[in-house]
Amino acid sequence: MRLPVGRAATAASVILVAACSSTPAPQPTPAPAATPAGAAGRPQQGATPAGQPPAQRPAGGPPGAAAAAGEPAPKPYKDVITDKARSRAGLFKTHMVGSKLYFEIPRAQLDREMLLVTRGAAVPLDAGYAGQQIGPSRVVRWEKKGDRILVRAVSYVTTADSASPIYTAVRNSNLDVILGAFNVEAYGPDSAAVIEVTRLYTAPPNEIGPGNRFRGTPDAARSFIERVLSFPRNVEVEATLTFPPPPPGGTPTPATPGGLGNQAPVSGTASIVLHWSMILLPEKPMMPRLADDRIGLFTLTQLDYGRPEQRAERREYIVRWRLEKKDPHLALSEPVKPIEYYIDPATPDWLKPYVRKGIEDWQPAFEAAGFKRAIVAKDAPTKEQDPDWSPEDARYSVVRWLPSTIENAQGPNVHDPRTGEILESDIYMYHNIMNLQRSWYFTQVGHLDPRARQWPFPDSLMGRLVQFVVAHEVGHTLGYQHDQKGSATYPVDSVRSRTWVAKMGHTPSIMDYSRFNYTAQPEDGIAIEDLMPRIGPWDKYITRWGYTPIPDATSPDAEWPTLDRWSREQDSIPWYRFNLSDSRGADPGDQSEAVGDADPVKATGWGIRSIRQIVPLLIPATVQEGKSYDDLEQMYGRLIQQWARELGHVAIIVGGADAQEKYGGQKGVRYTPWPRARQKEAVAFLNANAFATPTFFLDPVILRRIEVEGALARINQAQVSVVGTLFNDRRLERLVEFAALPGARDAYPITEFLADVRGGVWGELKQGRVTFDGVRRELQRAHLNLVRTKLNPPPVQVPAGVPAGFAQQLQPARATSDVKAALRADLRALDAELAAALPRAGDAIARAHIQDARDQIRDMLEPEGRRGR
Ligand SMILES: [Zn+2]
Repeated sequence: MRLPVGRAATAASVILVAACSSTPAPQPTPAPAATPAGAAGRPQQGATPAGQPPAQRPAGGPPGAAAAAGEPAPKPYKDVITDKARSRAGLFKTHMVGSKLYFEIPRAQLDREMLLVTRGAAVPLDAGYAGQQIGPSRVVRWEKKGDRILVRAVSYVTTADSASPIYTAVRNSNLDVILGAFNVEAYGPDSAAVIEVTRLYTAPPNEIGPGNRFRGTPDAARSFIERVLSFPRNVEVEATLTFPPPPPGGTPTPATPGGLGNQAPVSGTASIVLHWSMILLPEKPMMPRLADDRIGLFTLTQLDYGRPEQRAERREYIVRWRLEKKDPHLALSEPVKPIEYYIDPATPDWLKPYVRKGIEDWQPAFEAAGFKRAIVAKDAPTKEQDPDWSPEDARYSVVRWLPSTIENAQGPNVHDPRTGEILESDIYMYHNIMNLQRSWYFTQVGHLDPRARQWPFPDSLMGRLVQFVVAHEVGHTLGYQHDQKGSATYPVDSVRSRTWVAKMGHTPSIMDYSRFNYTAQPEDGIAIEDLMPRIGPWDKYITRWGYTPIPDATSPDAEWPTLDRWSREQDSIPWYRFNLSDSRGADPGDQSEAVGDADPVKATGWGIRSIRQIVPLLIPATVQEGKSYDDLEQMYGRLIQQWARELGHVAIIVGGADAQEKYGGQKGVRYTPWPRARQKEAVAFLNANAFATPTFFLDPVILRRIEVEGALARINQAQVSVVGTLFNDRRLERLVEFAALPGARDAYPITEFLADVRGGVWGELKQGRVTFDGVRRELQRAHLNLVRTKLNPPPVQVPAGVPAGFAQQLQPARATSDVKAALRADLRALDAELAAALPRAGDAIARAHIQDARDQIRDMLEPEGRRGR
């Protein structure tokens, strides 16, 4: 029994910008309570016999309906499965008779639950990449109804113990959708039903189709079964579908979770090869393990009506592989079935050893859970060794290498929605992940590793970087979320200690967005290898929590006391702690792309020292004889982004509260506001480092090689991102609330905050002779623009699919809050300073700037309509 209802990240998390979208594979969606085929308003399936150009692909109409329309009249087996049939035994016996595909379904496989996973085996240009999963995987069941076979999509959103009285009511309030209906064409030995399923694949229902980027109905003449392979526990089918050009003016469709690439309809005629894997779900479902918000594992949620609690209970279970000890008596035993990852044959040969290392780097973590060699890497068999092997086959987990300019990687998983058991995972490594690794490594530790100042990097270096990314993605496919809190749980000075990082790394987890140790300085003597993230103490802890067998417990609830005890280790070991998912960006220790953020001011100070050492290395590291300056321009831009990102870590301190997830019985509160002094220190740091013009970037030797102009805009964009974070609405509201609550002793009042920022951004106004450099003038104007949007916020466009909690963070400050009043008061103070400074303006542009600022302030404080009232 889990206390209270969790908020752990369900398997469908939000995609983050950085190079790892942790979006797990689209999860088995609960079959929408879509109305069965042919419901009102939808043309009856089959109403469109093949060959007639349909207006719109009959949505949801089950294939085979045409045939199913007539009364089934099974014929003698040999008249259907003729001697020309190409047959193959397996989970279903499959027969290709000409271009028609038949399934011969043994009675033992009827009503069994199977997972259907759709992937693009070959895709048109600009429509995603070969190997990517399309849409959520679905649980299906083949059911016999007279001389018909129905294939249904099964949902697990609501459950109840099948022995409980409410069970039937739960099932009836969540009817499984019919995806297809087929007449039995003949009966085989032991009266196995033989059905013709060609159109299930050559004109699939939306639920298992290529996604709504492909419009209309595939042209039957140019759509056909490519191959079918039946195996003992799965059936693999591949088909080519060709879609005629979409009608002119088709509207772009909303993003399909897990859909292929961007969502504009594919233009022109398009062919795609889809691969469907249908795997038998384990007969003996794995015993699920309850989830815990203190533990960073992906979860699935079921609403359980069969529970003793006097309400429908949201039960959250972790998503994990099924690891059972060969010898349960051994403290360290090999698993009955290890987690196996194949290395995609398409991977460049020189990288294969590093991909292998990235996979097996997790072995020590599983030893912490009592398993030896729990995860192993394998080379894919050659065609000679296994002609049937294919990376799309859902029995094989593969680290795919995709020919793409995307600078990213993904680690989705496919799991059993009944129990959370991970059945398979394909990791997507996009080719240009290497270019991103180059940028990160150079802009973060280029001053420490001379190898970073050449391009291409030595294989030993780029290989090691790819190994890191593979290990990170494998972490996701083991069920692990991003541990952004990790880097803030180490004492800040430890990340510059040679001995500490050699033992503990600079972050406790490879799942943290804490890439390379940019705080390190040459004098620290830190080993190059220790500048990189690796499997750390949090990774071992989370593996221990998720995978250690609890042999005496025969139910999820019986495991809970042990799990709760393991979670409470966090009270004494800070680096076992996990992000508090709904801290709404308030926790200065829950940051991405951060190192040493237990004290972002100190760490960013060191980071900027590193950046200043890297600027002079830009040209030697990127400019090559006879080559353009494109690399210089890209790396220069990315170094400035790194600067802005690190400064953003400091801005988060203002209105910040340390967050630690705790359950009843654990000492202390979940949120602890940061002291006023540290918030003031943060603003002072930003005034000196973010808002002071970073002249070290404005080197004409670089600028005049990459552009005729653009330096002001680039620096301004970086500074605006920092000011924007500082003036985030939730942050301003927290400043107000923290100061307003009874007993607030050490709060940082919003008025004081605004004055401190003003003092930095408009510091020149106190000078005897007032002049401003161009970067400063742009920054000051950006400050006014930002205040204007706070005083008159534009309507917020919340993109479709953004979770409510996240959408709420986008809302402007509540009209009733002190925020606007404080901003107006600060504008008046600024106006007074401007007025006082005008006579001391040192040049014409300074005078113009001061007057322009005053005009803007007047417009904000007394908009046209309100003047003179
Ligand atoms: Zn990730």
